[in-house]
Amino acid sequence: MNITEKIDCLIIGSGPAGFTAAIYAARADMKPVLYKGMQPGGQLTTTNEVENFPGYPQGISGPEMMVELETQAKRFDTDVRSGFINKVDFTGPIHKCWTEEGHEIHAQTIIISTGASAKYLGLESEQKYLLNGGGVSACAVCDGFFYRGQEVVIVGAGDSACEEAHYLSKLCTKVTMLVRKDFRASKIMADRVKKTENITILYNTDTEEVLGDGNGVTGARVKNSSTGETAIIPCTGFFVAIGHTPNTDIFKGFIDLDETGYIKYAQPGTSKTNVAGVFVAGDAADKTYRQAITAAGTGCIAALDAERYLAAQEHYL
Ligand code: NDP
Repeated sequence: MNITEKIDCLIIGSGPAGFTAAIYAARADMKPVLYKGMQPGGQLTTTNEVENFPGYPQGISGPEMMVELETQAKRFDTDVRSGFINKVDFTGPIHKCWTEEGHEIHAQTIIISTGASAKYLGLESEQKYLLNGGGVSACAVCDGFFYRGQEVVIVGAGDSACEEAHYLSKLCTKVTMLVRKDFRASKIMADRVKKTENITILYNTDTEEVLGDGNGVTGARVKNSSTGETAIIPCTGFFVAIGHTPNTDIFKGFIDLDETGYIKYAQPGTSKTNVAGVFVAGDAADKTYRQAITAAGTGCIAALDAERYLAAQEHYL
């Protein structure tokens, strides 16, 4: 038999947004329960070295940072649980959630921090060099610095790819952009890339394989889909910028999402969603910045908003 649990604050997701929300909520005595989700620690667990999070002058690995954030959240008695929430119902006055094991939770406040997942090409060689700083990355702002003075490749032709290619062009000697057909990005973003001297654009080009020496990336084998010709492009960094998928499927029909699935803020400048008592933090609502520090910042905002909401409620469950 599954016993329904009644709590003040449920946090869904365990990236920097979720753990920061937990630290604030726990210190405000909201006794938060945090479900770690499908990828405990979130996207940072695939990041080898984090050098841009303030407070770590020597840098820290992504997985280590997540352990530290979890330890800090537990220090104030956050109830951190393995497992994930796979169903919600926000139609009534009580916010209901269920774990994958069918455990039912009624929460006064909910902080959604389920994040987003970077899309990858799906090549075996890509996944091989994704881990442990092997040379494949889905975040130029996070990892571009490690390839300064080197040659890199970036896949994609949307606004993100253009922004990241431009960012990389300031650090790297040469950036080769692989565009599978044509640009999808806005004209202004595409034009900026086209005008940048050290960016070479290859149209109608697919990646066949990421090449490496076992320790790191050494190049990419590409194929022109019009001519059938293949070529090898030497590079030490292989960046994938083909979009992200926000992890918001379970909220469809309950929370307002934009056309690409990101959660919409009901009131700009806050973490409020269209459902009273349900707040959002981190990449689940952010397709622009996507940084650990911005996720942590919005986690703080969500916990403060949740605390104020709770304080304003006259009746508890
Ligand atoms: P998009 O979905 O807009 O673009 C994805 C790009 O990746 C397309 O060029 C697509 O090519 C390509 N792609 C997808 N799959 C593959 C594949 N398997 N192999 C090769 N290429 C592939 O994603 P973005 O992340 O760029 O942008 C998401 C949203 O965020 C957009 O609305 C964008 O405007 C917005 N944004 C705005 C910014 C700004 O204004 N500063 C900055 C960043 C994002 P194809 O067209 O052939 O499918």
